[in-house]
Parts: sequence; structure tokens; C-alpha cells
Amino acid sequence: MSCIFCDIREKKVPAEIVYEDEDIMAFRDADPRAPVHILIIPKKHILSLSEIDEEDRELIGRICRVAARIARQESIARSGFRLVVNSGPDAGQAVDHLHFHLLGGRSMSWPPG
Ligand code: AMP
Repeated sequence: MSCIFCDIREKKVPAEIVYEDEDIMAFRDADPRAPVHILIIPKKHILSLSEIDEEDRELIGRICRVAARIARQESIARSGFRLVVNSGPDAGQAVDHLHFHLLGGRSMSWPPG
């Protein structure tokens, strides 16, 4: 089954990559909802947050650390940022490859719509 984020991981589809290591990749969202809007993905194809299991514990922890590192890189660590995961239809998940939205650079309301 085709997956747009697997294609980005494979560099078959272009993206502005801001971070990459053996297991994790981060690139700018094609339709940014904030001045900084970056998607952080595990390279491994995990369908959604509800599909993670015990063996992914370290990977998810590392993704959070990568998010904090990118926030510093993008100069939004002090002003603040959000790390958002949409999981499933009610949350509006559109791409079935686990991804974390890193959003910042403007003030945000709560709760999200
Ligand atoms: P979600 O609704 O949580 O599944 O978010 C999917 C996100 O992927 C949206 O914010 C899209 O703008 C973004 N997106 C979809 N295709 C691409 C792409 N080719 N490059 C970068 N971002 C993308």
C-alpha cells in the first residue's frame, strides 16, 4: 500500500527535511498551520498512535527529544510550541503513518477545534 510519508522517507517525494537519523525524520508540513509547522515521523511505518507497542517505547521517547531539539533550532523553545498527534478519524488523521505535528511561532487557543 502506498504511503506518502514512506515516499518522503525514501526521498521519492520531495520535502524540506529539517532532521534525520537512522529511525526518525522531520520535515516541514506542506500546508503549514503556524509559522513553524514540522512533522516528525518514525521511519518505521506505524499506522497511528493506537498501534504503538512496548518495543516502540524508546522510539517515541526519542521523537519527543527530537521535537525539543527542533524547537530550539527553530527558536520556539522559549516562546512555546505544541506537539500534536491526530489519531483516528475523530481527530482528523489524514495520513496513516504516525506523525507528530510540531507547531509554534504564534499564540494558540485551547481546546483545539
Ligand atoms: P494529519 O491530519 O494529522 O494526518 O496530518 C497530515 C499532515 O500531513 C497535514 O498537515 C498535511 O498538510 C501534511 N502533508 C500531507 N502530505 C504532505 C507532503 N507531501 N509533505 C509535507 N506535508 C504533507
